[in-house]
Amino acid sequence: MGPESEDRRRAALARVLGGRDRFVSGYASGLDIALDDEELAAFYKTMAELGFTSAKLKGGRDLDSDRRRLQIIGDELRSNTRHPALMLDANESWNLKQAVRYVTALERDTDLTWVEEPLRRWDAPGHARLSNAVRAAVATGENLTGLEQFRPLLDAGGVDIVQVGCVWGVTHFLRVAHLAHAHDLPISPVGLTSNQAVAHAATAVPNHMVTEVQDLGAPFGVTIDQEIVDGGIVLGDAPGHGVSVDEEAILASQRSASWLVPAGPHVRPHRAGLRLIAEDDRAERAL
Ligand SMILES: [Mg+2]
Repeated sequence: MGPESEDRRRAALARVLGGRDRFVSGYASGLDIALDDEELAAFYKTMAELGFTSAKLKGGRDLDSDRRRLQIIGDELRSNTRHPALMLDANESWNLKQAVRYVTALERDTDLTWVEEPLRRWDAPGHARLSNAVRAAVATGENLTGLEQFRPLLDAGGVDIVQVGCVWGVTHFLRVAHLAHAHDLPISPVGLTSNQAVAHAATAVPNHMVTEVQDLGAPFGVTIDQEIVDGGIVLGDAPGHGVSVDEEAILASQRSASWLVPAGPHVRPHRAGLRLIAEDDRAERAL
């Protein structure tokens, strides 16, 4: 191995992929459907202190509540900007006409930057009709995998912000980012906590808009070489994706290692799906 490849082996993934900036702009996302208004304000106050100027609320079930909660979030973010970007994630909970009516009503007094997953993920013509009917951008894609699943949406003009789930990884992110770029559309990764590799990849494409930042910490036993500051992620210099896992600590923690115990509700029964009586309460015969 020559010195050049040795350097690349020790480099942060962002450098290996050609990224020029260690900063990844982000938006705050509290996955906040279970937070009451006070908890919501507290979460976004913390995120505002870290420089965030944009945020995404989960909602779509109660217009008055969403309006009030977007106002609460906006009030916190206004410590950083007069014009916070506010987004709403409906998680595919509407049909087309519900989406049009809901977003139209919300937009009477709320400047919504994007509405996320308003319809079922495959409804290309529906997304296109919605995008034409409301001011907000339509964001979707986090539950799509292959490029063939994105293509109908792009062909129909059904997506304004192309999203990718971080869980699908770096290669998927890069492929979708390039496809979106070919359509002059921005790309935005969804669900970034410990899926740090995608944050590195975001520095290496020309159309990255903003990355979802859900969590300021890391899962137990995991260290991530990054800093959340100025409303985004500052990537560190650790080699690769900058994630290190303390396996010993995880194994030593009974709670965290509970998935290793081969029994319990997290283990699919051997005969699951093959039992004639699904709720058979007789002891399963040892096999
Ligand atoms: Mg979402």
